[in-house]
Amino acid sequence: MAALTAAITEPLIPALLKPLLDRGFVQGRLQLWMVPVALIGLFAIRGLAQFVSQYALAHISNEGMLTLRRRMFKQLLSADMGLFSKQSASTLSNTVVYEVQTGAMLLVQALLGLSRDGFTVVALLAYLIYLNWQLTLIVTVLIPGVAWIMKTLSRRLYRITKISQQATDDLAYVVEENVLAHRVVRLHGAQDSQAARFDLLGQSLRRLAIKSTVASAAMTPLTQLLAAFALSAVIVIALWQDRSQATGIGVSVGSFAAFMAAMLMLIAPIRRLADVANPLTRGVAALERGLALIENVASESTGDWAPGTVRGDITLRQVTVRYGDSDGAPALDRIDLHIRPGQVMAFVGPSGSGKTTLVNLLPRFVLPTDGEVLVEGRPVGDWQLQHLRSQFAMVSQDVVMFNDTVAANVAMGQAVDRDRLQACLEAANLAGHVASMSQGMDTVVGHNASQLSGGQRQRLAIARALYRDAPILILDEATSALDNESERLVQEALSRLMRGRTTLVIAHRLSTIEHADRVIVMDRGRIVEQGTHEELVRNDGLYARLHAPAAAVERIPA
Ligand code: ADP
Ligand code: MG
Repeated sequence: MAALTAAITEPLIPALLKPLLDRGFVQGRLQLWMVPVALIGLFAIRGLAQFVSQYALAHISNEGMLTLRRRMFKQLLSADMGLFSKQSASTLSNTVVYEVQTGAMLLVQALLGLSRDGFTVVALLAYLIYLNWQLTLIVTVLIPGVAWIMKTLSRRLYRITKISQQATDDLAYVVEENVLAHRVVRLHGAQDSQAARFDLLGQSLRRLAIKSTVASAAMTPLTQLLAAFALSAVIVIALWQDRSQATGIGVSVGSFAAFMAAMLMLIAPIRRLADVANPLTRGVAALERGLALIENVASESTGDWAPGTVRGDITLRQVTVRYGDSDGAPALDRIDLHIRPGQVMAFVGPSGSGKTTLVNLLPRFVLPTDGEVLVEGRPVGDWQLQHLRSQFAMVSQDVVMFNDTVAANVAMGQAVDRDRLQACLEAANLAGHVASMSQGMDTVVGHNASQLSGGQRQRLAIARALYRDAPILILDEATSALDNESERLVQEALSRLMRGRTTLVIAHRLSTIEHADRVIVMDRGRIVEQGTHEELVRNDGLYARLHAPAAAVERIPA
C-alpha cells in the first residue's frame, strides 16, 4: 500500500500537480489555502500507509519466521539420527537461528524494493506510453538486457552465497570445538594452530564476501549503462524525427521535455530493481537451507504397536550392525541373545567390542544392518516409537545434562513430583549434595551440569533413571565415574532399582557383575563366552583374563 502510494505520489507529484496548480490558479478555480491542505493531507495519508504497511510486513514476516523455526526445531527433535552425524551442532544452529532470520530479512527488503520500484516503473511506463508510445517502444529494449544481466549475475551470486554458507558453518564449527575443548587447547598450547585454522577459514570467507560484492556491485553500473544507451537512442531518434517531420509522430518541445524527464526518472527505480537481485538471491539461498531441513531430512520411522503392560522380554536374532557403509569389521556380528523378563544381564568385554552398540539397538538409537531386534516378541520397528522408548530408563556412558534446575534435569519433561524427586535423589546418594546447593533442587546446574563433579553428574543421571521408573533398565558404565565409596552406595540404589526389572548392565567393576543372572562376554562384535560369574571364572577364558587384576584387587583386605 505504502509502496503503491509512494510509487505514485513520488514521481507524479511534480509531474501532475504542477500543471494542475498552474492552470487551476490561472483559471481561478483553486484557492491558496487548498495547497497546504492538499500537501499535508497527501503526506499524512502517505505516512500512515507507510507505517501500516511496515507494521503489517513485520507482522507477516515474523509470523512466517516463527512457523518456519517451529517446523525446523520439530524436525530436529524427530529427525532420523543420521542427521546428527552428517551435520554439526553449529551448522544446525546456524540454519535454525541465523539463516532463517537473514533470509526473511533480505526477502522482505527485496519485496519492499520490488513493490515500490516495480509500481514506479509501471506508472512511469504508462505515462511514457501516454506521452509517446513509439518512443516508449525503444525503452522496452532495456528489459531483456536488464533481465540478462540480472540472471547471469544472480546465478553467480547464488553460487557464492552457497559456498559462503559452508564457510560460515566451518568457521562456527571451529569456534564450537574450541569452546568445548578450551582446557585441552590451553594445556597443550595449541592456540597457534587453532588460530591458524580459524584464520584460514576467516580469510576464505573474506575472499568470498569480496567476490559476492563484485558480482552484486557490477549490476548497477551495467544496468545504468544500458539505460544510457536507450536514453541516447531516444534522444537521437526524437531529434531526427523532429528535423525530418516525416512520420508524423509530432514531438513538440514540451512533450519531448516531459518525455525526457519521465525517462530520467525511470533510471533510479530501474537501478534499484537491479539491486533487488542481490538480497533476493541471498535471501532465497538462506531460506532454502531451512526448507531443506524440513523437506529433505527424513523423520524416524515408527510403527503403531503400543501394548499396555510390558514385562521386558528382549530377543536379538542374528543381529549385525555396520556403521556407515564401511566394508570393515562390523560393530556387531550375528548376535543371538535372549533376555527374560526381570533378568539382570551383564555385558563385559574390551572397549570397542560393541557393548554400547548392542544396548543402543533397543530404543532404536542404532538400527540393525541385518537381523532382528525384538522387545516383547515384536520387532522394535513395529512399535510406536515413543511408546517403545518409554519402556527404557538409561544411564549412559556420556551423561548429558541440561542447563536447568536439578529438579528439571531429573524429571526430564515428566511432571515434577517433589517428594518422589527427593526419594530418587536420596536413592542415588545425591540428596546430601543437593541440599548443600544454594537453592536445593531448584539450583541451576550450568552447561552440561559443569557445576557438578563427574561422579555427581553420574548420580544425577541415576536419579533420572530412578525417577523414570521404566520396566527395562540400561546401565552403560553407569558407575565408571564413581569412587569406591559412592559406588557402594549407588550400587545399593541400583540393586533396589533393578528389582523386578529387566536390566542390561555394562560394567568394568566386578561388584556390579557378580550379582548378574548371566554375564555375556563380548569381543570384536561377537559373543565369545557366557554364563554366571563363577562359571566364567572356572572357564578361564577371556572373562577370567579381563577380571584377573580386578579380582586380585578385590581380594585385598581393606
Ligand atoms: P564398546 O561400548 O564395547 O566400547 P562400541 O559399541 O561403542 O563399543 O563400539 C563398537 C565399534 O563400533 C567400535 O569399533 C567403534 O569404533 C564403532 N562405532 C561406535 N559408534 C560408532 C559410530 N557412531 N560411528 C561409527 N563407528 C562407531
Ligand atoms: Mg561403550
